[in-house]
Amino acid sequence: MNGTAVNPSVSDGYEIPRGRLVEHLRGHYKIADERVLAAMNTVPRHLFVHDAMRSQAYKDNALPIAGGQTISQPYIVARMTELLELKGRERVLEIGSGSGYQTAVLALVARKVFAVERLDVLAAEAKARLLKIGFRNISYKTADGTEGWPVYAPFDAMLVAAGGPEIPKPLVEQLEIGGRLVIPVGSEPKSQILVRVTRTEKGFDTENCGPCSFVPLIGQHGWK
Ligand code: SAH
Repeated sequence: MNGTAVNPSVSDGYEIPRGRLVEHLRGHYKIADERVLAAMNTVPRHLFVHDAMRSQAYKDNALPIAGGQTISQPYIVARMTELLELKGRERVLEIGSGSGYQTAVLALVARKVFAVERLDVLAAEAKARLLKIGFRNISYKTADGTEGWPVYAPFDAMLVAAGGPEIPKPLVEQLEIGGRLVIPVGSEPKSQILVRVTRTEKGFDTENCGPCSFVPLIGQHGWK
């Protein structure tokens, strides 16, 4: 784990509910990647929600954040991260960083995260929060993430936390051979299928990883 940022041995008073959540991810949802579980057991999710919602931070629910958006459900954060099969050396592009919670989990299990968010208010808050917690392996950009981040391409892994009508072409083009992209895709703005695309020598392998529900991906290669 690249976790110099958050120190799990420093008590923040939420160890017990956070530990219970992680046992639920392991037992009920069968999340098996120990590095992902350790990251979920480390990131202080209560610091990524509004003060008034802190007591709900370790329940397995999405919660409202600014701009009409949501912090993703812990289960879906763990599942998408696990699907990326990160070993610790990867450069990861994240689209739709929102509160920065998923960004923090990725930053603990990969080498470097490139976080893109289209709403300025969320991007600015997330950056300040992640810097304050101590993360130093994240680059931030406020932009339409459906265009990817060409100057830093190719990426070993990509995670999109909002659902579009199709897989944005610039993203698959910026994927390294052997790299994985996890993205919700669907013809309805709020209900999707979680898809994993792996770039191979010859083309792309696409796997259906089950139904999911995300806020809409808005942009040039998303919903208009
Ligand atoms: N994982 C985040 C999820 C936030 S919700 C969290 O747990 O906090 C999804 C986010 O995607 C929203 O913040 C929304 O503003 C953002 N988004 C939607 N379309 C986008 C686009 N084209 N580029 C970048 N971000 C986008």
